[in-house]
Amino acid sequence: MSLSQVTFTYEKFSPESLPQEWSALVSAAKDAAEHAYSPYSRFSVGAAVLTDGGHVEIGSNQENAAYPSGLCAERVAVFHANAKHSAEAVTKLVIVAKSGGVFTDSPITPCGSCRQVLCETEQRFGAKMQILMYGSRECYLVESASCLLPLSFGSESLGGK
Ligand SMILES: [Zn+2]
Repeated sequence: MSLSQVTFTYEKFSPESLPQEWSALVSAAKDAAEHAYSPYSRFSVGAAVLTDGGHVEIGSNQENAAYPSGLCAERVAVFHANAKHSAEAVTKLVIVAKSGGVFTDSPITPCGSCRQVLCETEQRFGAKMQILMYGSRECYLVESASCLLPLSFGSESLGGK
């Protein structure tokens, strides 16, 4: 038997100290949260992505009375970007959430299904996706979606490429 360990590093920022390169995406994600359809959770999530072609696209959570039929903001944003710019890698993602009319203090992190999609998006384009998880008190930044899903299932698991 041998033991292996997976570790990852993430940066913490106050919103005021975020690098300037993130400000437009944070604003876009905050705007996107205003367009969430979240009558069941009353938890509005906004996401914004940047592609390597310079396009910013947004998504928000879209709920449904048949709960599993809804979709998270992160996947709406990434699929939106991929649908419009299928040859462009998604290189940055910002996630924000609003509850009770205010942005959450703590960062919101992607659910497991979103992590799966974010990882495959990286693999698809062979490009890392930086993810900024925004909170009004502090923000987390990871350099790659793969940090959030170690030992992930992917196309290689199916015997594909
Ligand atoms: Zn999700």
